[in-house]
Amino acid sequence: MSAPAPTPPPGLRGSRNVASAILATSPIGPSDARTYAIRTLGCQMNVHDSERMAGVLEAAGYVPAPGEGPVRTQGIPEADVVVLNTCAVRENAATRLYGNLGQLRELKKQRPGMMIAVGGCLAQHERAHVIQKAPWVDVVFGTYNLGSLVGLLDQAQTQGKPQVEIQDELTVFPSALPVRRELAYAAWVAISVGCNNTCSFCIVPSLRGRERDRPPADIVQEVEQAVAAGVIEVTLLGQNVNSYGAEFGDKGAFAKLLRQVGAVSGLERLRYTSPHPAAFSQDVIQAMAEVPTVAPQLHLPLQSGSDQVLRAMRRSYRAGRFLELLDQVRAQVPGAAISSDLIVGFPGETEQDFGQTLEVVGKARFDSAYTFQFSPRPGTPAADLPDQVPGDVVTERFDRLVALQNQIAEEQSAAQVGRVVEVLVALGEGRKDAATNRITGRAFDGRLVHVALPDAGCRTPPGCGVSQVTEAEPRPPGAPGTASPPHLAARQEPPRPGDLVRTIITGSAPHHLLADAAPQGGLFEVRRTRAGDAWDKVQGRA
Ligand code: SF4
Repeated sequence: MSAPAPTPPPGLRGSRNVASAILATSPIGPSDARTYAIRTLGCQMNVHDSERMAGVLEAAGYVPAPGEGPVRTQGIPEADVVVLNTCAVRENAATRLYGNLGQLRELKKQRPGMMIAVGGCLAQHERAHVIQKAPWVDVVFGTYNLGSLVGLLDQAQTQGKPQVEIQDELTVFPSALPVRRELAYAAWVAISVGCNNTCSFCIVPSLRGRERDRPPADIVQEVEQAVAAGVIEVTLLGQNVNSYGAEFGDKGAFAKLLRQVGAVSGLERLRYTSPHPAAFSQDVIQAMAEVPTVAPQLHLPLQSGSDQVLRAMRRSYRAGRFLELLDQVRAQVPGAAISSDLIVGFPGETEQDFGQTLEVVGKARFDSAYTFQFSPRPGTPAADLPDQVPGDVVTERFDRLVALQNQIAEEQSAAQVGRVVEVLVALGEGRKDAATNRITGRAFDGRLVHVALPDAGCRTPPGCGVSQVTEAEPRPPGAPGTASPPHLAARQEPPRPGDLVRTIITGSAPHHLLADAAPQGGLFEVRRTRAGDAWDKVQGRA
């Protein structure tokens, strides 16, 4: 899968009957109900798991603390129960955890009865040490113990002492638990948990174990239920999605799954993360090219451009193969937005190795990349490797890599100007939106787009025509929204999260695009969607 940033996954076979979905921002319950807040650290899989924790809590009668959603990452939560869903992959993860717990200790002194639970990968790693170091914590639960959260809180309360439950083997896929989705328009859907690879920098295999695959029927059922509730975008999650099916002996399972899920009626956008270059196969590229709902987007972790370093990382592809894959994807999925993960300063990396990374990055022309400075993670094989690269050398190389990648990203973004895109309006992605009178969302290829709203007199399209169009957003013929349906016409209301806005790219920066044509009467077509309606509903406005 991806690299050192993200964390891990959920769920088990035959366990379905899918979770009763509890929508985001559910109505506030009885005023005396206990409140909860979850702080989510780490990758999308942690977000997925937090939505399950929220579902489990709400099924037991808890309600979100005022202003809280299941996946917030910042702020000191004020709730009766605070859950930290931790990540063991990030640098200094333990230091941060205990820093957060120190803050919560002060809060707990002021809120009698408040309880603190620690879950996620770091909890799995630290186990009872969490209680030893922070005895004010009430519950520590593992990545496979999400369903026990409420019972553990109850036990901690009645017994008056902390509870620790860490299971090493998956028995129930978290996907089978109730869910409270953060967003009405998008859903994370886990297809597997664990990983059979042994990348030497990665803690995931030792914390989440070997890969377990959910049956395709369970996955499709979950997607159908999410779509029925208003979701129009789904992201399939796995540590290494390309090996999906290994457990039940079907090498083509992931491509088949893309086709099956992509055909779910009402679904408009299908994404996935993370693939692994070694297992990335032609049938997956074909599915991307042929299934209209599969987004033209690929996050393919390179990690290093040096074959010697890749070998030391225990990554079984080589740089040449990686570049071939990109060529194949670009040939069959024109305009695909491609991103990657890169690690600088892996033990033993020489200046020559690093030069090869720069060379491959120059050829790969990633639209974006997450760049990391290697730092040893306790418990990983790479932590004990000789020839650790001195910190100042790592930093200097890192700066050079970031400068190169930023330059490439800037050029790639600039090439988008003039394209017509359809933006799925998102919640919380544009911090300056209110000040700049914009909305923010993602194009079909995943690029972040800030879209100017029409001026007050032209909030919607009459007279807002297309101008300067050079290229439509790449998508296969027949994809939803390819044409500009007549019902998109003038609407007098601004788009809601989950609605789609067809507009034109007018400006660019390395990490985002601007679509500022509307105030001058340029293209701004709103397609109100079921997802927007679902958003309205959970806001209590429908
Ligand atoms: S061991 Fe698995 S999860 Fe970790 S980086 Fe490698 S492929 Fe990804």
